[in-house]
Amino acid sequence: MAFEGLSSRLQNVFGKLRGKGKVTEDDVNEAMREVRLALLEADVNFKVVKDFIAKVKERAIGLELTKSFTPGMVVVDIVNKELTELMGGTNTKLAKANKPPTVILMVGLQGAGKTTSSAKLAKLLLKEKHKPLMIAGDIYRPAAIKQLQVLGEQIGVPVFTLGDQTSPVEIARQGLQLAKDNGHDYVIIDTAGRLHIDEALMTELRDIHEATKPDEVLLVVDAMTGQEAVNVAQSFHSQLELTGVVLTKLDGDTRGGAALSVKAVTGCPIKFAATGEKIEPLEPFHPERMASRILG
Ligand code: GDP
Repeated sequence: MAFEGLSSRLQNVFGKLRGKGKVTEDDVNEAMREVRLALLEADVNFKVVKDFIAKVKERAIGLELTKSFTPGMVVVDIVNKELTELMGGTNTKLAKANKPPTVILMVGLQGAGKTTSSAKLAKLLLKEKHKPLMIAGDIYRPAAIKQLQVLGEQIGVPVFTLGDQTSPVEIARQGLQLAKDNGHDYVIIDTAGRLHIDEALMTELRDIHEATKPDEVLLVVDAMTGQEAVNVAQSFHSQLELTGVVLTKLDGDTRGGAALSVKAVTGCPIKFAATGEKIEPLEPFHPERMASRILG
């Protein structure tokens, strides 16, 4: 399960603190040393860890630990709050256009889970009684269009395609027009990815952006890739104003680094978390729940 290593290490550290009647400054320092190591081992960005520890210490030292009723608990509570803050504080909702349809552009590297997440997002919108349309804008990866069509059929959401001989910009433009004509209130545009970020990919995404003026640009990143996911997010964000992140493959044994660093490094909130290959509704990401899950 995701975060297993981090979770058990932190629980161990805090187990020791909780058990103490009195907690001294040395105890806090020792606990923070262990928390720091646990975070670094979970592949959390070095600078993020440094800031995190500094913040927790500042708040903990300010407390009169010896007088506190259960000082160990107080420290755990501080760490919980700071972990929550680190991941963005509260859930950031999907944007909504003033005038429908709300346009959502899904971007990311190949294999990150864009197509799968597009269908999961459509399923979530269906559950919320919306009428989404998906647009098949990945004309390069063999079978990407077919994959989206199959998923669309499976969940009962129409997929707009013009095959793989028309430019993605034109496909997006026509798809959006069709959505307006047919009263769809959400449009999800699946785009092409590459193995690495390159200029051609970014130019194409910028062109689609210009043509469709999306309300959301969601970067789909694979949590299993750890700090690499954060680097990818930083590169995309510098070239294409992202509005949020979809963190996929949280069902795998990810160490947690991406989830804990991406917001702090890029300023971009994680809006959704994805688990599993089956098409279930995409889950809104809740920093406070994730922090509690990590701390056990
Ligand atoms: P794309 O190239 O970004 O469109 O990626 P796909 O949506 O085709 O996904 C790549 C692979 O990852 C597929 O085999 C998916 O089934 C799998 N996948 C996508 N999302 C998840 C997830 O949240 N968890 C797991 N375990 N697998 C996923």
